[in-house]
Amino acid sequence: MTKLRCPLPFAGTASLKDGLPRTSRPAADPSRLQRPLTVLRGVGPATAREAEKLGLKTLQDLLFHFPFRHEDFTNSRRIGELKWGEEATVACRLESISRRPTRRRNLRLLVATVADESGFMEAVWFNQDYLLDTLAPGDRLMLRGRYDGSSGSFVVKGHELLTKKGGGGLHTAGLVPVYPTTERISVKRLRAWLDAVRPLAMVLADPLPAWLRVELDLPGKADAVLAMHFPRSRGDLRAARRRLVFEELLLMQLGLAMHRRFFGERRRGEPLGAGKGISRRFLENLPFSLTPGQERACREIDADLAGEGPMQRLLQGDVGAGKTVVAVYALLRAVENGCQAALMAPTEVLAEQHYLGLERLLAGLGIDMALLTSGLKASERRRILAVTAAGEVDIVVGTHALIQGDVSFRRLALIVVDEQHRFGVRQREQLARKATREGITPHVLHVTATPIPRTLALTLYGDLDVSIVDTMPPGRQRTVTRWVPESKRPQAYDFIRGQLDRGRQCFIVCPLVEESQALEAPAVEAEAERLAAGELRGYRLGILHGQMPAAEKRRVMQRFQAGELQVLVATTVIEVGVDIANATVMVVEEADRFGLAQLHQLRGRVGRGRHKSYCLLFGEGATEAARRRLQAMEEVDDGFRLADIDLEIRGEGELFGIRQSGLPDLKLARLTRDRKLLALAREQAERIIGDDPALGRPENLLLREEVRLAFGDSVKWLDRI
Ligand code: ADP
Ligand code: MG
Repeated sequence: MTKLRCPLPFAGTASLKDGLPRTSRPAADPSRLQRPLTVLRGVGPATAREAEKLGLKTLQDLLFHFPFRHEDFTNSRRIGELKWGEEATVACRLESISRRPTRRRNLRLLVATVADESGFMEAVWFNQDYLLDTLAPGDRLMLRGRYDGSSGSFVVKGHELLTKKGGGGLHTAGLVPVYPTTERISVKRLRAWLDAVRPLAMVLADPLPAWLRVELDLPGKADAVLAMHFPRSRGDLRAARRRLVFEELLLMQLGLAMHRRFFGERRRGEPLGAGKGISRRFLENLPFSLTPGQERACREIDADLAGEGPMQRLLQGDVGAGKTVVAVYALLRAVENGCQAALMAPTEVLAEQHYLGLERLLAGLGIDMALLTSGLKASERRRILAVTAAGEVDIVVGTHALIQGDVSFRRLALIVVDEQHRFGVRQREQLARKATREGITPHVLHVTATPIPRTLALTLYGDLDVSIVDTMPPGRQRTVTRWVPESKRPQAYDFIRGQLDRGRQCFIVCPLVEESQALEAPAVEAEAERLAAGELRGYRLGILHGQMPAAEKRRVMQRFQAGELQVLVATTVIEVGVDIANATVMVVEEADRFGLAQLHQLRGRVGRGRHKSYCLLFGEGATEAARRRLQAMEEVDDGFRLADIDLEIRGEGELFGIRQSGLPDLKLARLTRDRKLLALAREQAERIIGDDPALGRPENLLLREEVRLAFGDSVKWLDRI
């Protein structure tokens, strides 16, 4: 019996002894967890309603209402051992208690004499007169406080009246939980409730299979839940948290792994073999050889394409790491197999830029390309749709409208998605569904423009396989970044003119206009006029913004590329995809209004050639967060580290919008802090699913149930496995 009640040394404190019903089957009925709070002594309907504000309806809710911290009351002393200034907990007997007058009007003192077998001392409470009615000589007390050397008394911070029944220390001994509360539900009350429901933790089913718990040295669920509230030590608490966070992340990763598999197995892709060698020729024609990261990514893509299922891969890498080459390689792998490929960009401007870039990269390879945007004349659009449907174009570039509207392909085998704005699991699923024709789902390569720390990528893109281009092309120089306050503006323009005079080129990005995109055009025009008449008089300036007609944008980009324009005043349309080696200065106006990821992207537009490059960030740094961002830009040039810093400044929830991504909420796990566990969870999830793809084995049934609960409605596919 004793064994059963205290299964592991880990099992917290006296908890399991107290309050357990004296039956031979202790608390074995799981439905007890679903009972309302009103079954607790002293909890009426009004209190229960108040508790709902904390999300507490059932006893189970209460068990999972975890403290956000613990007060450390571990230092317990006898009166005779107390040292001056030391905070400690003392168990003692109340001898006498009385009010002591003070000269200060708003200070009221309550003074008691307390004793234990080692001696006695004076204890003092401030402004708690009501205790005169609740405490009486002879009471046994736990006092938490500090022995103040100058007054010679013990200043009480917290106290607890010990009952005859023994136990006690709920509020003053050991690691005492501190909970989120409401006005009417105090932390003491919550502690008492949790103390009362402790025995129920035994009923909690443990979804983690025993072998996994043993292997990873994780405590059982009941023990972990108990230790979250009433840990015996910090170590206990850490182990408990680790276990619960792991479970949360494992469920998420299992769901995502099942998703990956489901699509891999249920859907058919176009198997793309070694092909006729256009992709090889493309690589050979490049003026450089691939970096190890690029090589690896290409090999991983090859392996995906050779398989039966459609590729669902994320290609990730810092700005300028050379993702484009890899993406183009993937496109050509489809083309050389006699299939079509599509490149989808988030906006039309970007689609056009990608198209121009492709034209340059693929020159001489005999590839037929088409650009499909809404700006096309009706007749031209009809023509492009016709040749696309007939299979006469190899690569079609456009926005997401490519797979939504009236566009049909003859044999679309692969899509590259430039994910400037992060897609969620759901959008990706939608894309795959919409693009499926006659039972064939195109391979998809998602390319992210923003570096995401690997572990985060594993979560946010847990439904994808991930390739990371983690090595920069050789010979890259660090772009020097300077935050330029208003007072230094003249020097900055001096510097820019110096660069232009040496034959280099410069981007000037105008401030974000949050209210409306339509306002951006006048802002750009006004700034270009101001500069042309002022600081940059005599230089050749061009403008670029989203409102310009497509042909006009294209002409401007071409003139800049050819060096006819020296300065390009633009909106953030130049954020992605622009690749001009001769441009060495990036100026961002009102840089404090931009996020770190965006600033990093903008900076990535320079430093692409052999010339030393510079990024000048204008702005006053109005807020603390803005100053931190601008400083980070000056100091850090690794996009992954910047993403981390961004996460710290902004908080992960806001940045990643987990809620919108179709992923379950995380209660305990913090993606920033729990990276190692996330990687471990992913690894274990893959292993479990590898052995038992549908989680159908008896030892995995609880896991399956919990995955379903965690993902809720968003996992219809789970039912189809
Ligand atoms: P991003 O990852 O930001 O899309 P790009 O693909 O645009 O980066 O590449 C940035 C620049 O680096 C381009 O000018 C490209 O030609 C060059 N580049 C790409 N791969 C290599 C390489 N292996 N060696 C040298 N330069 C490279
Ligand atoms: Mg790119």
